[in-house]
Amino acid sequence: MDCLFCKIINGEIPSQLIYEDEQVYAFHDIDPKAPIHFLVIPKKHIATLNDMQTSDEPLIGHCVFTAQRLAKELGCQDGFRVVMNCNELAGQSVFHIHMHILGQRQLQWPPG
Ligand code: AMP
Ligand code: ZN
Repeated sequence: MDCLFCKIINGEIPSQLIYEDEQVYAFHDIDPKAPIHFLVIPKKHIATLNDMQTSDEPLIGHCVFTAQRLAKELGCQDGFRVVMNCNELAGQSVFHIHMHILGQRQLQWPPG
């Protein structure tokens, strides 16, 4: 499958790994928008949030808990933001779902 993040998961493309287990893979964003900016992705290829199935619910929950744990480990215990962009209209550029975790700076609201 011609998917950038599937290639990262299987090691075809290098990444700055933070954590992985059977279900998820977490790595630093290549173009960080905050002092801490990492991505948590399921190892299962799901193109967009619109393609999630009911059976994916525990997997997504595991992604969220992984994000929370790693955010704390990386020094973002005072606050961090989790973002998931769905489709081009929301700015999605890689079509394998991913959670952005941003921290260690004051974040503004609303986002652009
Ligand atoms: P989105 O625009 O929400 O689809 O986010 C995709 C993210 O993937 C962007 O923040 C990119 O900087 C990031 N990205 C693209 N290629 C790589 C890569 N090879 N390694 C790490 N992050 C990447
Ligand atoms: Zn993929």
